[in-house]
Amino acid sequence: MGKLLCKCGHVIVDQTDDLPYKGYFIKDTHVEELYEIFDHIKDLIEALKVNKREEWVVRNFGNEPYALELSDADLIHDLWLRKVKVSTIYNCEHCGRILFEQGGENRFKTYIEEPDEAHN
Ligand SMILES: [Zn+2]
Repeated sequence: MGKLLCKCGHVIVDQTDDLPYKGYFIKDTHVEELYEIFDHIKDLIEALKVNKREEWVVRNFGNEPYALELSDADLIHDLWLRKVKVSTIYNCEHCGRILFEQGGENRFKTYIEEPDEAHN
């Protein structure tokens, strides 16, 4: 992803894994796709046992030669990216705003916490 500029001026850096200010949003209508990934991984393991890796790749990636070059771990990673529709979310550590990915990559909408109503 790289870097993202928050409206407060803070630069949100995304160049490593395990970022505490980064998350993912999966709509309930797409959560089933997340579970289906496990079935595809199970199928891949079975295919590897019987030397049918290439058939599995063609079944899941179609006629894309690059996929045959991928490691098993990268196959699973790419499969996840293809099958599960997730939106990336960042929480600005400086101002607390939420930057919510919209549709295409690198398009974000910004949300900011509303102040609590006064109770006096
Ligand atoms: Zn900010």
